[in-house]
Amino acid sequence: MTLPQKFIERMSERLGINFPAFLRSYEKPPEKGLKINTLKVKTDPISAFWNLEPVPWAEEGYYVEGEKLGASWQHFAGLFYLQEPSAMCAAPLLDVQPGEKVLDLCAAPGGKSVQLACALKNQGILVANEIDYGRARILSQNLERMGVENAVVTCASPAHLAEIFPEYFDKILVDAPCSGEGMFKKEENATREWSEESVLACARRQAAILEEAQKMLKKGGKMVYSTCTFAEEEDEWQISEFCRTHSAFLLERQEKLFPHEVRGEGHFAALLLKSEGERREAKPYPIRKVSAANRAFEEFCEELFGEITGEITTLEDGRMYLLRNDFPAFPHVAILRIGLEIGEWDGKNFRPAHALAIAEGERTKRKLELSAEETEKYLRGETLEKDFPDGRVVLTREGFPLGFGKCVSGTIKNHVPKGLRRR
Ligand code: SAM
Repeated sequence: MTLPQKFIERMSERLGINFPAFLRSYEKPPEKGLKINTLKVKTDPISAFWNLEPVPWAEEGYYVEGEKLGASWQHFAGLFYLQEPSAMCAAPLLDVQPGEKVLDLCAAPGGKSVQLACALKNQGILVANEIDYGRARILSQNLERMGVENAVVTCASPAHLAEIFPEYFDKILVDAPCSGEGMFKKEENATREWSEESVLACARRQAAILEEAQKMLKKGGKMVYSTCTFAEEEDEWQISEFCRTHSAFLLERQEKLFPHEVRGEGHFAALLLKSEGERREAKPYPIRKVSAANRAFEEFCEELFGEITGEITTLEDGRMYLLRNDFPAFPHVAILRIGLEIGEWDGKNFRPAHALAIAEGERTKRKLELSAEETEKYLRGETLEKDFPDGRVVLTREGFPLGFGKCVSGTIKNHVPKGLRRR
């Protein structure tokens, strides 16, 4: 990897006698980590499986080395999220509590949303927003895999959201798009695209995003701004300029992780407090009832889960969601997911969503534990031969739900969505 000359000069000037150590950090392979999904994993089987070393600044964060964990059944079942260790430092600064209204404004692919969702424990709401539709889809899939039930995934500009949610959120995370100096090892493109001009362009874009973000924070609320870059224009100077021009905000804490000082690729995070005052609430989310579909869902639940409570809503694409949390209205915002996706109704049949098995599968009596070999087959999309009463079933591994199947005369038909099957 060749580092841009101007970057070398800037860092040398910035770090002085520490610069050689910084430069040497580029000789090591990139640090990798995972965050345990505490929505699913109540004890700590992950470190028992792989004997992992904890990340000091992130609860439930662990270092991983050579392991190909992305291909494991534990990854498929959403027991953890693979996340660069230093990136784990930002979300915990918000000290999110269950029941709060939280916005992750630049959320894809979702590592920090997962941390926020775990802190919320499925109580309150998480608005996970991403401006790029393709990336928002990946974010939506990741939150589904984690079994998050209280999130809404939106695809909107910060300015649009700011119009809808004046002073609405208790906590906001702005993990801003940046010049990515901490990504140089991981993404070859990041070095090629880097220039001093791009640093300044990023700083201007970040200031515009912060300007909209601050409007959405309640008085007395907390906001964390973070980047994966070392440039002061995007980090410390960005925050001091923001506080200078927004007198309601106070810088409470600032962290900069350098790769020569910690085991991580580098991150910046600043915690800002907005001074107290009056609070305003947004309108409730309007729910469109589709009664035949709702009845079909209730019948389906009787077979598998008994009663499932919550309001059912159907998005424009026909997918049905269960809302158990107090979601606000989202006028003219593209919504990719809200609450718990439960399935689809084609006018005749109800087809349950994979997300429902992942999030609620532990509760059903109709579950069937798979062996290691059967799990491999199931994740590849193959049918299984098992002695089980006919009807729908949740397949599990070590008690963790993997997805739905349907048993017909000893054959379990595989309901893993095609896009998620292992090749
Ligand atoms: N928080 C994410 C995570 O932990 O996985 C990473 C977010 S990444 C650093 C920044 C995101 O901001 C990108 O997904 C990018 O598409 C999005 N973005 C780019 N321009 C934006 C803008 N003008 N407003 C809001 N988000 C933007």
